[in-house]
Amino acid sequence: RPQILDDEEGGVLFYSAPQSSSSSGFGYSILERLRKRLPVYKYKTAIQFLVENHATTIVVGETGSGKTTQIPQFLREAGWAEGGRMIACTQPRRLAVQSVASRVAEEMDVKLGEEVGYAIRFENVTNPDTTKIKFLTDGVLLREMMDDPLLTKYSIIIVDEAHERSISTDMLLGLLKKIQRRRSELRLVISSATIDAKTMSTFFTGSKKHQGLEAKDDKLNMTPAILSVEGKSFTVEIHYLEEPVSDYLQAAVSTVLSIHSQEAPGDILVFLTGQDDIDAAVQLLTEDTRSHGKNSGLSILPLYSGLPRGDQELVFSNSPRGKRKVVIATNIAETSLTLEGIVYVIDSGFSKQKFFNPISDIENLVVAPISKASARQRAGRAGRVRPGKCFRLYTEDHYVTQMAVEGVPEMQRSNLVSLVIQLKALGIDNILGFDWLAPPSPEAMIRALEVLYSLGVLDDDAKLTTPIGFQVAEIPLDPMISKMVISSCSLGCSEEILTIAAVLSVQSIWMSARGAQKESDELKRRFAVAEGDHISFLNVYKGFLQSGKSSKWCSQNFLNYQTMKKVVEIRGQLCRLLNRLGLTLKSCEGDIKAVRKAVIAGFFANACRLEAYSVNGMYKTVRTSQEVYIHPSSILHRVNPKWVVYHSLVSTDKHYMRNVIAINPSWLTEAAPHFYHFQKPNYPVS
Ligand code: ADP
Ligand code: MG
Repeated sequence: RPQILDDEEGGVLFYSAPQSSSSSGFGYSILERLRKRLPVYKYKTAIQFLVENHATTIVVGETGSGKTTQIPQFLREAGWAEGGRMIACTQPRRLAVQSVASRVAEEMDVKLGEEVGYAIRFENVTNPDTTKIKFLTDGVLLREMMDDPLLTKYSIIIVDEAHERSISTDMLLGLLKKIQRRRSELRLVISSATIDAKTMSTFFTGSKKHQGLEAKDDKLNMTPAILSVEGKSFTVEIHYLEEPVSDYLQAAVSTVLSIHSQEAPGDILVFLTGQDDIDAAVQLLTEDTRSHGKNSGLSILPLYSGLPRGDQELVFSNSPRGKRKVVIATNIAETSLTLEGIVYVIDSGFSKQKFFNPISDIENLVVAPISKASARQRAGRAGRVRPGKCFRLYTEDHYVTQMAVEGVPEMQRSNLVSLVIQLKALGIDNILGFDWLAPPSPEAMIRALEVLYSLGVLDDDAKLTTPIGFQVAEIPLDPMISKMVISSCSLGCSEEILTIAAVLSVQSIWMSARGAQKESDELKRRFAVAEGDHISFLNVYKGFLQSGKSSKWCSQNFLNYQTMKKVVEIRGQLCRLLNRLGLTLKSCEGDIKAVRKAVIAGFFANACRLEAYSVNGMYKTVRTSQEVYIHPSSILHRVNPKWVVYHSLVSTDKHYMRNVIAINPSWLTEAAPHFYHFQKPNYPVS
């Protein structure tokens, strides 16, 4: 029998597993042998026992200990997926969902999409009859609650990577706590690499104390169990820079080269911030490799979320004989994915983070310093197979004095529009009183309510409107895009708007044009339309279909083939969704004005006006008088129409509008009379 230790303070249970000897490994497949070597394997019966007896189990363990891939399998073996029930395992990142699902399918020797499946937005690879273990993003699970509020399909929900504190994870935890009150047989497993287990356990213990909940099943313990999985990891020597560098990209590249020339064999993992700088680093290293002829001995691989599936899998493969593998990744490799064989880590000290300012109403993805906790995680990746080294591209002083101890939960630095509409759709009216793990700022909350009210999604009592509010909530897109889609149905241009919505839902349809900016701009102009980017997307889409969805046509036109395929796929899904909602699909047959009006129906709040006498193309947002400029990637860059509406802002040295459409200001008052009205000629106020 496992031994249970009581902790007086919080009434929390700790469990220490007996150290079992590992099996001989004889006669097992390689994968089976690898599985048994993972640190969580020793805790298999412990995990099964705790989940059987506790409503909530919290598992804390180092990255790579096998939490994500093994725990769902252990629970399936314990019978939790029998009788038509499923085990869900959520991840904050789509790439991680696909990657771990295919790994688990491989370990179980089944076809992906049958016993083991996955679901991410617009992609469902499961079989309702056979799937037992389902990996999905936390966002998709939240969506599923709209049809099945108690998530009755699932016997167990594993909330993985809880330390990431994504906005959806936080929201999910609050909702799951509610569901537990209604479904006492539901088991939760919260798993993470660096979680503050006490915070989580107090959060879930609260549900019993405060609501006087008693388990229906007397044997079920409502107090969360905490299990700490100890894995072995090796020491990692930390190296800092003596002097700060201004260009971490260049510094990363030279560090790779100096490790390669001076250090013992072992793979290198480099943390940069996103596709742009990763592609640049890959290119710089590849050029260097070429200049050394064939035998440079480096195998350079990028890893970020937009990467095609085949390239994703490559990072897990062994490096070719005699070659040193260099994986250049975003913080997806921090805890979500474990790469074997890494001995050297290069940490840029930065990641892309979302920041939202409720006053200016600007949400931005910016490159910002990581926290000490992240820096420690990154360094830890070097000590998995043997003692390793971590090269931090910043000074020790920067680490000590400039880096925060922990990151701020995403909930507290995000635009909350999507979150609010989802809670409303789930019937949670008192949003401020919701049981938050970390409460969002009231300003951001109010801002979100205002936006939804102005979109006509919420009424005066802050309830979802019928039918618009409910329809917008059903569409798994940003509410402004959803509103645009719904409006297009009455404006008779839904065929066109669905294409635009699909393009706006992917990263960028254009290939990154590093070093070929001019050529790419010229090619882009072939699709250009004076009305702006949205309308140009229609030409691109038409061209792609006419080419027979050809990859050659895409590369000739500097378009990303994978993304274009995705656009077609998303568009198809949106068509089916609209049909389900009973909305009609119709083409406006070239009446571009209707399309522009539909865009405005969703994005009127993003209207901007060119400053009179502006020489450098400065616009001001109508609502907050924020200075903004048209992004150089836009068709309307340098064209500078007097009035525009943008889709999103990015900020570097200035605020830049991306995806811009020219409008007639009278359409603003027409689309949103509650939001804009003309006072003096051409002077709208909110
Ligand atoms: P944790 O969730 O505790 O961080 P994982 O379960 O993700 O650990 O990883 C356990 C092991 O499985 C690691 O050794 C990792 O390299 C391996 N692994 C996970 N996903 C894949 C994959 N897609 N391909 C190959 N190996 C994988
Ligand atoms: Mg994991």
